[in-house]
Amino acid sequence: MVRYTIDTHVHTPASDGRSEYGKILNAACLRGLSAVAVTDHYTMDGVSPMQDLAGNYGLEVVPGIEINTGSLHVVGLETYDIIPNLLGLDKTLYEIDSQGGLPIIAHPFNGRQIFLSEVRPLLDSYLVGIECIGVNGGNRQVCKFGDAFAFAEHYNLPKIGCSDSHSAKTVGLAVSVCEGDSFKDFREAFRERKIDIETNNYR
Ligand SMILES: [Zn+2]
Ligand SMILES: [Zn+2]
Repeated sequence: MVRYTIDTHVHTPASDGRSEYGKILNAACLRGLSAVAVTDHYTMDGVSPMQDLAGNYGLEVVPGIEINTGSLHVVGLETYDIIPNLLGLDKTLYEIDSQGGLPIIAHPFNGRQIFLSEVRPLLDSYLVGIECIGVNGGNRQVCKFGDAFAFAEHYNLPKIGCSDSHSAKTVGLAVSVCEGDSFKDFREAFRERKIDIETNNYR
């Protein structure tokens, strides 16, 4: 079986990422990843510099964006145009869907009831991934996002692991894994809820 390993949530210097493009890719390469998604805040300017260098590292770079809906952060994977902030969750999911992107609820924390109450009614219209495992950027420890796992399990949603890296030091410490060798296969796994989460203890 060919394994496709992707960090679905990575920031670059185009927004508030602190590591240079090549350093991010080098870290991803050293940690055995197949791909990283560039998901900067309200810009896609980091995608091209990453894609230009990706071949040197044998990595796939997936374009994406992180959007603040006003109450939640949402990552769109394989989006190509900027989606404005503060549109609300429904409109944000609609915009990602219109671009053919995959929506993922980012770092939902325990006790954030608005998360549950806002996402649930939209699940009939959209297949939404849920970040269940992330990385604390401060101490570089892998962490669980409260009851996100139980929520995803209950509603049969794709469970996502990612780093939300703002530094090469944390790239790939939590990842999403599926069978396949390209993001096309990840899309299929997302639809079929066949994504596993893996974590690393690299420092
Ligand atoms: Zn965020
Ligand atoms: Zn982020």
